[in-house]
Amino acid sequence: MSELNSLILERIRDVPDYPKQGIQFKDITPLLADPVAMAAVVDELAGLYQVDKIVGIEARGFILAAPVAYRAGAGFVPVRKKGKLPAETLEESYDLEYGSATIEVHRDALAPGERVLVIDDVLATGGTAAATVELVRRTGAEVVAVAVLMELAFLGGRERLTGVPLHSLVIV
Ligand code: 5GP
Repeated sequence: MSELNSLILERIRDVPDYPKQGIQFKDITPLLADPVAMAAVVDELAGLYQVDKIVGIEARGFILAAPVAYRAGAGFVPVRKKGKLPAETLEESYDLEYGSATIEVHRDALAPGERVLVIDDVLATGGTAAATVELVRRTGAEVVAVAVLMELAFLGGRERLTGVPLHSLVIV
């Protein structure tokens, strides 16, 4: 196992029954609180691809994507839950276990031809990341890859990301 792998794995804790009974939530806050591990993660993500924009997914994706954008010399673009962005948006809905969710991006945040890296903390079922990829593509920008800190492989989220590389710093 690589040094980065163990730096990450040792700082993500399982919280049982959060947000509901039967779910083991991967809590990344111990990692965020460790400046050495956090710097290693940000440096790794910033060095993966040459891009114009880093898209961060609300909310924990923001915490990673903003320093990565700074480090990579790229712009930061937020993808947020519906109703949170002030200007004109594009929106995309996707199915959840119960019901659906809608995410948005500012219509003018990305330009055709721009190269984009999408960042989130955890890839679970892949629904959020797949909807974000679709949203970015509808602006005309190119999704170079999706990068996550942790991929929960048993949920099969990777299969929902068609035609875009997925880079996971750790896979469990
Ligand atoms: P998905 O759409 O892939 O099922 O869920 C991924 C989204 O939900 C991500 O935005 C991620 O932040 C959040 N998420 C789902 N499960 C977990 C988890 O166990 N830990 C964390 N930190 N986030 C999760």
